[in-house]
Amino acid sequence: MPKRDDILTELGLVPTWRLRGDAGAAAPAKPQSAVQPERDARAALRDDTAGPRGAGAAPDAASSGRAQRIATLEWRDFAADVDACTACGLARSRKKSVPGVGDTRAEWLFVGEAPGSEEDAKGEPFVGQAGRLLDNMLAALAMKRGANVYIANVLKCRPPNNRAPAPREIDACRPYLDRQIALIRPKLIVALGKSAATTLLGVDATIASLRGRVHRYRDVPLVVTYHPAYLLRSLPDKAKAWEDLLFARRTLEAAADAVPGGR
Ligand code: URA
Repeated sequence: MPKRDDILTELGLVPTWRLRGDAGAAAPAKPQSAVQPERDARAALRDDTAGPRGAGAAPDAASSGRAQRIATLEWRDFAADVDACTACGLARSRKKSVPGVGDTRAEWLFVGEAPGSEEDAKGEPFVGQAGRLLDNMLAALAMKRGANVYIANVLKCRPPNNRAPAPREIDACRPYLDRQIALIRPKLIVALGKSAATTLLGVDATIASLRGRVHRYRDVPLVVTYHPAYLLRSLPDKAKAWEDLLFARRTLEAAADAVPGGR
């Protein structure tokens, strides 16, 4: 079991990310004034000007029938249904579908963008380099993949060449994410990166402008932070991501304290 300092060193977070005394109770991170556009591994191909993929998308009759069906899926059928899905065409080029992984009754739900090549080969989200950073981020919070945490992506199939998800792919896959959230009923959602944040919130905004506030997805508190793939290349923003995770933890604790017997 790696020591906490080793984890923080690995993250490039020492001394900035050291969890000490009151640091965790410090004021929530403030939105940054200097907007640092998020760029992850798909950056070169990403269309950051695309509009929000949120509540506004108007489904046609066939897709709304499909969405209604997915909205009643139970866990036992969920992964097979995702695997059989051909709605957006990505099934033709992917190797494995990547429905999600973890504790289906988790309090924490982390949502990323889409599987990359390693996830595509394994059928599990965040198993590549970005995934190792995510695991280290969880470990720094004394959390572990699968234990009180569920990890999913906006898209369940890999876009070819790691290109950015197309809006119609996000629209087609969205009922699956909605259903996962309805089944898990997490106490907190952490949106990792712009795709997850804009999809879940239905707004087109930068990560910098969305950080440091509690948003809501339906009635679930949602906190936004940088995508781990972006953090791998941006050392200064790791410190901000650590602030975001501490803010997320305080948000969850505050929500639990507000409910009698909630903890
Ligand atoms: N990036 C993501 O957004 N999701 C993964 O599963 C892997 C990399």
